[in-house]
Amino acid sequence: MKTIGLIGGMSWESTALYYQRINELVRERLGGLHSAPIVLHSVDFQPIEEMQRSGDWQRAGGELAAAAGAVERAGAELLLLCTNTMHKVAPAIENAVSIPFLHIADAAASAIRQAGLRTVGLLGTRFTMEEPFYTERLGAQHGIEVIVPGEVDRALVDRVIFEELCRGKCNERSRTAYREVIARLQQRGAEGIILGCTEITLLISQADADLPLFDTTDLHAERAVAHALCV
Ligand code: GLU
Repeated sequence: MKTIGLIGGMSWESTALYYQRINELVRERLGGLHSAPIVLHSVDFQPIEEMQRSGDWQRAGGELAAAAGAVERAGAELLLLCTNTMHKVAPAIENAVSIPFLHIADAAASAIRQAGLRTVGLLGTRFTMEEPFYTERLGAQHGIEVIVPGEVDRALVDRVIFEELCRGKCNERSRTAYREVIARLQQRGAEGIILGCTEITLLISQADADLPLFDTTDLHAERAVAHALCV
């Protein structure tokens, strides 16, 4: 079994889910007392979030590239970045390491293609929903058409992520609002929904929607374990 490298802390609420899910999957596959060899580098999210807000992506990329190098030197044989948004700086991270970097959008895309779907709605931070680094990868590399919520809904989805979910708060009113956003995406032609922020799974589960949900936290963890076990 290969050692899995994680760059986490963005936020730690979802990194904790990665740690748990990866270990659960290894136990399911190997049984006994097996657990996953993991190297975790968890950052302080506050300064990273300030760099996002001020548009200082170069500095953020530099910090995460340094973290990636440290994770590789500590023995990781594959690397995951436990946030969708910071995949905006994925090229800087990939350039800093020689181990495979498992892109979170590729994990979502293969599940969507396996389910036989082509058009999906996307929920995430405003960066993930509005900037090309995520939607273009899904389109150009995987042939998936992405529908993003309208402006008011995007602001709501983003606010709930940063003001609630990343702070460990799950609010019933926000759950209802997310359900309504999902219903509007469905009306516009979405056949499934990407939970394209690693904290959304804290608020929304398959029971909240009558179309398939693609939970990037779960799918990314599964991809890591499949890679680590080479199955
Ligand atoms: N974890 C979130 C994501 O998957 C949002 C936090 C961040 O901005 O990194 O995008």
